[in-house]
Amino acid sequence: MQGDKGMGLVCVHVFGCRSSLCEGEYIAGRLKELGHDITEDLKDGITAAIIVTCSVTSEADRKCRQMVRRARKILGDDGVLAVSGCWGQSLDSGMAQSLGIDILGGTRGVSALIPSAVSEMLGHGREFRDIRRLDVHGWQELPLTQPVMHTRAFMKIQDGCNHFCTYCIIPYLRGKPASRPENSIISEIHRLIDGGTKEVIFTGIHLGVYGHDNGTSLARLIRRVSGISGLERLRLGSLEPFCLNDELLDALAECAAFCHHLHLPLQSGDDEILSAMRRGYSAHDFVNVCRNARRKIDASLHISSDILVGFPGESDSAFQNTLDVMELAGLGRVHVFPYSERPGTIAASLPGKIPHDVKISRTSEAISLGRKLYADYVRGFTGHEVEILIERDGRGYTRHYIEAHCEGGNNETVKAEVIDIAGTRLECMRRN
Ligand code: SF4
Repeated sequence: MQGDKGMGLVCVHVFGCRSSLCEGEYIAGRLKELGHDITEDLKDGITAAIIVTCSVTSEADRKCRQMVRRARKILGDDGVLAVSGCWGQSLDSGMAQSLGIDILGGTRGVSALIPSAVSEMLGHGREFRDIRRLDVHGWQELPLTQPVMHTRAFMKIQDGCNHFCTYCIIPYLRGKPASRPENSIISEIHRLIDGGTKEVIFTGIHLGVYGHDNGTSLARLIRRVSGISGLERLRLGSLEPFCLNDELLDALAECAAFCHHLHLPLQSGDDEILSAMRRGYSAHDFVNVCRNARRKIDASLHISSDILVGFPGESDSAFQNTLDVMELAGLGRVHVFPYSERPGTIAASLPGKIPHDVKISRTSEAISLGRKLYADYVRGFTGHEVEILIERDGRGYTRHYIEAHCEGGNNETVKAEVIDIAGTRLECMRRN
């Protein structure tokens, strides 16, 4: 049943990675088509809330639970509360009901069901429904008409993971890899460009295995996308370092729209820890991948990363190896996470737990080094000309994914000269 027009304000709030963002964008877009107004904020006056959740760490779980409690309070007795995403997938259905959730969704195939389920429930009254499935195989289409919540279009092209890093719960919550068909991606990019989108970001849970299940590859997709006129910018979400082979690097180097930034999660720079994490590369491999990428694509390619600190068995010297590799690889922006145990993963039963205070001090050391490396990298752009896609209030990102400030309207691409640096934000003077 279609929701009545003007059925009120609905909050779509997203936690987690870019795949969650894509799912949130799709849900928001579809609810808009069904006649609802959309906000990202939980506030008085909303008639329903959809929380797209994350379960990557215990802290992520805690934040989702807290948000669900807040949402229930604001919605009162009549408002509809729906949950989707990884934390939703992991939740016990009795627990979901006790938290006041009306529609319990998870990962596979759920985003397409949530908008109509919410709209229907708003018309007929609240009644608990569990719509989760993990037995959905193959790709589930989530067509995006235009981004509702962002200037840039996050486009999910892959779901699921079969890598099973020992600390990660995601493969259990997202199921096997599935890739979106090339033709569907290409036609969506055309639709987005026609609607004014300038930047598309390909995202996935394990993006590097795109195409392994349907006879193609990320490199081949990039080559096809390179031929689309009107696509100004193309970015890739997080890529596992072992997926960055020469074929993919060559395709990226030859793609004019590709923005020179890659996110390659290092996690640890110590070979023993990397092997205990089952990451599939050594510290040496990681440094080589970064060098190769800079050699083939751009000497000033921005490589951002994630670091997991305090994994079981991480000695002082293992941690030092991580700091050394961060420098050797010339990392830019770095996200540092203290390891937190996820029940159900192999790492949860490993010996050699690291005391909390050691984890905290190592985390702050890695954060400080990351900040220094990023500040050094950003300083290298002083006096250079950059291109900025303005998102809001004169702020946006350069092609190398550095935050920048410059005169310009929303969704406008401007050429500018970097005249100053405020923290790590480029202050720029417009040139076109
Ligand atoms: S590649 Fe590793 S960290 Fe990434 S989703 Fe798969 S198991 Fe988790």
